[in-house]
Amino acid sequence: MKKDFDLNTPDVTDLTHSFQNACKNKEFKDFVYGLNIKEETLMKYTSSLEDAFLECQNCKKCNSLSSCKNSMPGFVYTPIAKEKVITFSYDACPKKQQELSDNAYKKNLDLLEMPQDIKNASFKDIYKDDKNRVPIIKYFKEFMDNYNNEEKPKGIYLNGSFGSGKTYLIASLFNEMAKKGVKSVLVYYPEFLRNLKANFQSDYNEKFDYVRKVPLLLLDDIGAENCSNWSRDEILGPLLQYRMENHLPTFFTSNLTLEELEKNLSTTTSGVDNVKARRIVERIKQLTVPYELVSKNRRE
Ligand code: ADP
Ligand code: MG
Repeated sequence: MKKDFDLNTPDVTDLTHSFQNACKNKEFKDFVYGLNIKEETLMKYTSSLEDAFLECQNCKKCNSLSSCKNSMPGFVYTPIAKEKVITFSYDACPKKQQELSDNAYKKNLDLLEMPQDIKNASFKDIYKDDKNRVPIIKYFKEFMDNYNNEEKPKGIYLNGSFGSGKTYLIASLFNEMAKKGVKSVLVYYPEFLRNLKANFQSDYNEKFDYVRKVPLLLLDDIGAENCSNWSRDEILGPLLQYRMENHLPTFFTSNLTLEELEKNLSTTTSGVDNVKARRIVERIKQLTVPYELVSKNRRE
């Protein structure tokens, strides 16, 4: 019987030919036969198998993820047998898998109104040239050792000059804690306040509650905000009160000393209230151990 000519199905002899041609390369042959797929199926996918083989060869010669030669860096085009067909998928290579699992802890670290690169702050990269950091780093070690005690250790109030590395230091501690599974939030306080105020009608309660309850909190750059009665008495006061009562370690960075902060908090657009400002500073003192970081400006 005469067979219909089918434009879509390449001739079997063509398939065999190109497959056998490709198999002249011994390594390719070992690669495809190592897949445990029937030859008649393999033959239909010569071109894709060659792509997969090339990527697999690239992986064998790989030095680092950054020099990956595969079409999707970090991923390898991989054949998967399904009865009489083969499907191909881009799978993370072992180095990429390692990178993904190394970074998984970063989900424990949340940034509100802060630059993303602070997520990479780590103990091992802390500047070692500056002795002023030593007592703070010592305290961090103590903090980590004591974190699981019934009474949680206090946070720190880190006062110092602009660009001295205050935020970086605390972020490096939070990063180490994240690796141990402890969640933290770093908040750029002046912007957080502006945002809370702007979203007063919508997600205000949710956001406030989230920051109030997180296991580790950094209020970054406190004292740089425009202080109002609302921010002092409705936000900061209750936030600190809650964290004090629940023994939740709280950290602060500021360009101001606690005395300067108290002065700053006492004067709002509505007038002067020394008592309320003192009460806030008393809470900060209860929550923290004070440290000073005087160092050169690293932003220059
Ligand atoms: P501050 O909060 O005191 O104003 P930052 O923590 O923002 O200062 O640090 C200023 C700059 O220096 C940032 O770009 C930060 O990434 C970098 N930096 C600060 N301390 C370190 C450090 N110990 N190791 C590496 N980079 C640092
Ligand atoms: Mg800072």
